[in-house]
Amino acid sequence: MSAQVIDGKSIAKSVRQEVAAATQQLLTATGIVPHLAAILVGNDPASEVYVRNKERACAAVGLKSTVHRLSAETTQNELLALIELLNRDKEVHGILVQLPLPQQLDSMSILDAVLPSKDVDAFHPENTGLMLQGRPRFLPCTPAGIMKMLQVCGIQTVGRHAVVIGRSDIVGKPMAALLVQKGVDATVTICHSRTVDISRVCRGADILIAAVGIPEFVKGDMIKPGAVAIDVGINRVGERLVGDIDYAAASQVASAITPVPGGVGPMTIAMLLQNTLTSAKLAAGS
Ligand code: NAD
Repeated sequence: MSAQVIDGKSIAKSVRQEVAAATQQLLTATGIVPHLAAILVGNDPASEVYVRNKERACAAVGLKSTVHRLSAETTQNELLALIELLNRDKEVHGILVQLPLPQQLDSMSILDAVLPSKDVDAFHPENTGLMLQGRPRFLPCTPAGIMKMLQVCGIQTVGRHAVVIGRSDIVGKPMAALLVQKGVDATVTICHSRTVDISRVCRGADILIAAVGIPEFVKGDMIKPGAVAIDVGINRVGERLVGDIDYAAASQVASAITPVPGGVGPMTIAMLLQNTLTSAKLAAGS
């Protein structure tokens, strides 16, 4: 059996088209252009690429974006002062602090300083709480992108066993929270670095989501025949980008699988655009 490839690139494209159309409508109705302000501290090459991709993605759908580049020596107070400025700026609808931050900065208190109504990454505890209670303002971009892929591909979640590998605040935990929501109704297991006999747990999954950060961590024999395999991992191995799932082996066992690249990655950016639009609409009261 060869798995259906879940084409994140094309699903993301249709999300971007929807965002572009709605952005145009908002502009016509209110004169407002949604505006994403990104903060990049230091010179991490991967972060540079991520921020540039986000800038391009904004431009392509008609969103305004500005990038605030700060030196690697920036202090906590300097960064907090910039966030405060952006919090107060009525023309800024989304604030994104590119992670990781240099070591001298306390990421958690920096992220906490972003106004929840402009927190388009949905990392602020207020937004996490709203999501957990099933009344989200913004959904965290990567898990939201995965939910969108499942929905577009008609993958049933009700009563199915979803296993999420990874318990980060950015991917694993919110992913599990979305899968367990009323209406989605999966039965969810979260695995992490201390899980015992993880292969056995994974083999019980109807939907397996890997967000580990270890190249090809999930082997073919950890996947139940016919399961859906979602690969969040982005790992650089030499010149290649490799996921957390052994794609060649898994695609012989799974019924559907996301590739790396071209799977979850494009969805994450598309959902960021959607959140920025949502923020501008909320600010406009429309
Ligand atoms: P993280 O390092 O914060 O979390 C990794 C998780 O994996 C941890 O919770 C840990 O408990 C678990 N883990 C580590 N070793 C394990 C083991 N041996 N067995 C079981 N679990 C183990 O990473 P993250 O931010 O959640 O990102 C995970 C991966 O997803 C990374 O490769 C990252 O680059 C990628 N990522 C991709 C996107 C995207 O848009 N596609 C977005 C965010 C992260």
